[in-house]
Amino acid sequence: MLDIDTALIPVTKAYLPPLDDYVGYLSGIWERGWVTNNGPLVCELEEKLKAYFDIPFVFVLSSGTVALQIAIKALNIQNEVITTPFSYVATTSSIAWQGATPIFADIDPDTLVLDPQQIEAAITDQTTAIVATHIYGYPCDVDAIEAIAKKHKLSVLYDAAHAFGVQHRGKSLFQYGDISIASFHATKIFHTIEGGAIMTSNPELAEKVSYLRNFGHHGEDQFQGIGINGNCSELHAAMGLSILPHVEEFISQRNQISQWYDQFLLEIPHIRRPQIPAQTEYNYAYYPVIFNSEKQLLAVITALNTQNIFSRRYFYPCLSTLNYVQPRPVPIAEDISRRILCLPMYQTLSYSEVAHICQVIQDALG
Ligand SMILES: *Cc1c(COP(=O)(O)O)cnc(C)c1O
Repeated sequence: MLDIDTALIPVTKAYLPPLDDYVGYLSGIWERGWVTNNGPLVCELEEKLKAYFDIPFVFVLSSGTVALQIAIKALNIQNEVITTPFSYVATTSSIAWQGATPIFADIDPDTLVLDPQQIEAAITDQTTAIVATHIYGYPCDVDAIEAIAKKHKLSVLYDAAHAFGVQHRGKSLFQYGDISIASFHATKIFHTIEGGAIMTSNPELAEKVSYLRNFGHHGEDQFQGIGINGNCSELHAAMGLSILPHVEEFISQRNQISQWYDQFLLEIPHIRRPQIPAQTEYNYAYYPVIFNSEKQLLAVITALNTQNIFSRRYFYPCLSTLNYVQPRPVPIAEDISRRILCLPMYQTLSYSEVAHICQVIQDALG
């Protein structure tokens, strides 16, 4: 028990691949002297991801946030955008950053993704798009969203930052919508330290993205239109290539950890788990729990901290409280975001550590 009591348990730990694997890629970079601007390792990573997700176009970029911004531009999203108040701030801020207006619809209290009825209720003649998050990697109601989008001629952009490796109805969750974006930030299940990606099956959108991510360059001295620098460096791509072969193994390790949590937490009253939608092979990116009250949540955080265990209030505060958005009632999202907590989740978390975390939670709830 001694070392467990003193060891710090963070909410997440960035995986670092065997150093030799990374150095192997670095040697190639040093030989070529090609460090960025769509280099061979970026292209190799893009090809591997296309095959892995079975998606015709994958662009590896400098961050998930830049991916969102480029996707919003590529889709020509303007005016009002229906989006979720229960996500990371980048979902909302990217919409506002592009000069569009985020309009929040409320979430489903069980799956925590956008409620299609609430989406439809928020549509006006100014609406151009739906930007929905597969929060924690839980699939949105993709069929309902597609039907609404068709009916009202809206674009669909999925913030799939958490969805690496999630399969929904037998295919990658990245295959849904006009565009999906991923984040490859170090805290995510697959990472390039900093990075992100745009995925689409639409060749016209892909062509726009290819210009947008590279300053609008069309050859050396011509420009197709406005653009930004979304380039991923070769050193970042090397990290992704070193990690990619391990992802399946991570997912099964996380599945095991998640089952240990389930086993202990089922015994504790006052806690409920969000529901993963049917026909989903989950990636176990997060382990969120919902308490009966914020008071219980705060008591648990304090108790865990005393034991050097760190959870995170993903996702709090509710994005409807941001000072640059229009107020709109989203009572379910506001309530859930006050009561939800993500427990530590990373591959090397041990059975005894999970048992210890759950014991501390149980004691805190009395
Ligand atoms: C991490 C994250 C982003 C932003 O990705 P970065 O790579 O950190 O820029 C966007 N949306 C969600 C839901 C995220 O969790």
